[in-house]
Amino acid sequence: MELSGLQIFKYTPAAKKLPESNCKKCGCPTCMIFSLKLAKNQIDLSCCPYISQEFMEVYNDSIKQPQDTITIGNLKIGGENVLYRHEKTFINPTVLAIIVDCVNSDWQKMIKQVCDFKVTRINVDYGVDLVILKNFSANNVEMTNLLKNNSQINFIAYEDLQDSGLNMVLEDDFQTTKDFLIKTRTKAILEKDEKYRAPVAVLMKNDDFNFQCARASYYLCKYANMIVFEEFNPELLSTLIMLRQNIFTDPQKTLQIEPELYKFNNPDKESIVFLTTNFALTYYAVASELEKLSVPSYLIIVPTKGMSVLTAWSAQTLNSEIIAQTIDQYRIREILNTRKIIIPGLIADMKNELQQACPDFEFVEGTKDASDISKFVENMCKI
Ligand code: SF4
Repeated sequence: MELSGLQIFKYTPAAKKLPESNCKKCGCPTCMIFSLKLAKNQIDLSCCPYISQEFMEVYNDSIKQPQDTITIGNLKIGGENVLYRHEKTFINPTVLAIIVDCVNSDWQKMIKQVCDFKVTRINVDYGVDLVILKNFSANNVEMTNLLKNNSQINFIAYEDLQDSGLNMVLEDDFQTTKDFLIKTRTKAILEKDEKYRAPVAVLMKNDDFNFQCARASYYLCKYANMIVFEEFNPELLSTLIMLRQNIFTDPQKTLQIEPELYKFNNPDKESIVFLTTNFALTYYAVASELEKLSVPSYLIIVPTKGMSVLTAWSAQTLNSEIIAQTIDQYRIREILNTRKIIIPGLIADMKNELQQACPDFEFVEGTKDASDISKFVENMCKI
C-alpha cells in the first residue's frame, strides 16, 4: 500500500519533536513538505539524513510492486497495485488471446480471421491482443511470412508463453477459478506475498457461448491478467473488449475528445452549425445524431477540460468568453457564411451574454437532449 504524506510525516523528526526537526537539510522548508514530496515520488528518501531504520523498512515495503509486469511484444501484462479501480486505477488491460494450433489444416485461415477482426469504440480501434501458436515451427517459411505480414498483432509460441513468468491456469469450474483469481490478487496486493506476484492467465474451457461469455466477463473484472480462448468468436471478443474499455479507464481522468470543428455529411459554407463541449460521451451522443441527419452540419467542440455541458458551465470552462475565443480560433467567420450557431438547450440562459460577446452571430437555443436533435432540425427546416 502506498503511503500518504501524513503517514510519512509521523516518522519524521518534526512529528517526534526531535532537535533536527525542520532542519531544511533535505532542501525542503519543513519535514511536512518533505513528507508530501516523498509521497508523490518528487524527492529521494536519502535526502533526509535523519530517517529512522523503522521508517526505512516501512517505506521499502510500501514501494515494493505487488505484482510483476511481463512484456510480450508491445503488451504489458500485470503490474496491478490496487484491488478496486476507484482506489487509484488499474494499469494494464486484461490481454485477450487466441490459441492457433498450427497442425490444423485451417490455421492460416484462422490467423487471417483473427488479424482482420477489429472493433472501434470511442474512436479507438481494438482487436485480439495476442495469438498463441501451438506446434509452431520457426523453420516453416510459410508460417514466418504470415507472421511478418501481420506484424500489428503479437504472436508467441505456446512453449514461450509457459516460460514467460505468467501463472497459467486451466479453467476449472467457475467457483474454483473465481476463488483462485480473487485469492491470488488479494494476497499479492494486500499482503505483497511473493508467491502470488505472477500475473494470471486463464485458459478458458470451450463450451456454450453464453456461459463462456458470462464467466470470461467475471474473470475480466476480477482478476485475470490474460484470458485465452481456443476458438475465435468475434461476438464474444467484442463483448469483452467493450467491458474491458469501461473497466480499464482511469477514474481520475475524464474521457475527452480533441476540441476542433467537426464535419458531418460533407457540409458547405451554408450548413447548420452546432456547438457542444469536449466531454467524449456528450460528443458521441451529438455526433451520432448529426451523422443520421439528412442535412450536412458542423459541430464546434469547445475545449472544456472534458466536462459535460452543465458541469463546464458551472465550472466556468464553458462561458461566453471561451466560446468567442473558440469561434476565433477555428476561424468560423472565414470558413462559413452561416452566422447561426445552435447551442445546447441546457445553457439557453447564456444566449444574451453570447450575443454581446459575438454580435455578428445569432445563437439559437437547441435541445437539452441529443436524441431530440433530428426533430429539432426537421422543425427548423420547415421555418
Ligand atoms: Fe525534516 Fe528535511 Fe530536516 Fe529531514 S532533512 S529532518 S525531513 S527538514
